[in-house]
Amino acid sequence: MIQCEDVHKWYGEFHVLKGITTSIRRGEVVVVCGPSGSGKSTFIRTINRLEEHQQGRIIVDGIELTNDLRNIDAIRREVGMVFQQFNLFPHLTVLQNVTLGPIHVKKMKKVEAIERAMELLNRVGIAEQAEKYPGQLSGGQQQRVAIARALAMSPAVMLFDEPTSALDPEMIKEVLDVMRELAQSGMTMVCVTHEMGFAREVADRIIFFDRGKIVEENTPYEFFNNPREERSRLFLSQIL
Ligand code: ADP
Ligand code: MG
Repeated sequence: MIQCEDVHKWYGEFHVLKGITTSIRRGEVVVVCGPSGSGKSTFIRTINRLEEHQQGRIIVDGIELTNDLRNIDAIRREVGMVFQQFNLFPHLTVLQNVTLGPIHVKKMKKVEAIERAMELLNRVGIAEQAEKYPGQLSGGQQQRVAIARALAMSPAVMLFDEPTSALDPEMIKEVLDVMRELAQSGMTMVCVTHEMGFAREVADRIIFFDRGKIVEENTPYEFFNNPREERSRLFLSQIL
């Protein structure tokens, strides 16, 4: 589903991604972890061209990310993204947030978009909030709306960038539960997260980043119990 071959990126002079090679299969759930500043966000943002890579190849569902705007458009339709800070439109209701993309980008009929949005809001356990504005919801509820909004575009892949990092502890579980259900439904997911319980239980694979490189790729069991690399060990000793 996603193939990265020797991907490099610089911010000005700063070499942030130093040759990332990995591939993610359809239906796979991958957790990306690593120290702050190691390039995790940059990596997943290059997958839907929120950041441009300067060298190497990224291919999503058979489409290569090049400067061709048609390809960028096609890939963005395939890839849903959920951010730490939710990024909902504050002046639109929950329902409007979820139907906006389907109506304006997918040209779906309004009634159909509403019906589908309500199904998704129901799936993330928040249908009764449909007419509220984001500011009237808790962080956990807003993040579940953000997940429903991404799913409304019927993506083939979902990217999550620390979706629970801005949440109070009691709201983390409700968001992780939605992500777990999504994983069980067969969605291909790449999740940057520090939630190691989630990683252990739900991930098929862990990708550990340090200083712009993939240092270790492993099964959760091996990564947590018997990491191959010294830097992984050090990281785990600091967070667990
Ligand atoms: P992580 O998500 O692992 O914390 P990031 O991908 O956000 O790491 O950042 C990796 C490095 O790139 C950091 O040193 C950060 O300061 C730098 N960086 C991130 N975004 C930019 C940017 N837009 N311009 C310049 N440097 C950036
Ligand atoms: Mg980050």
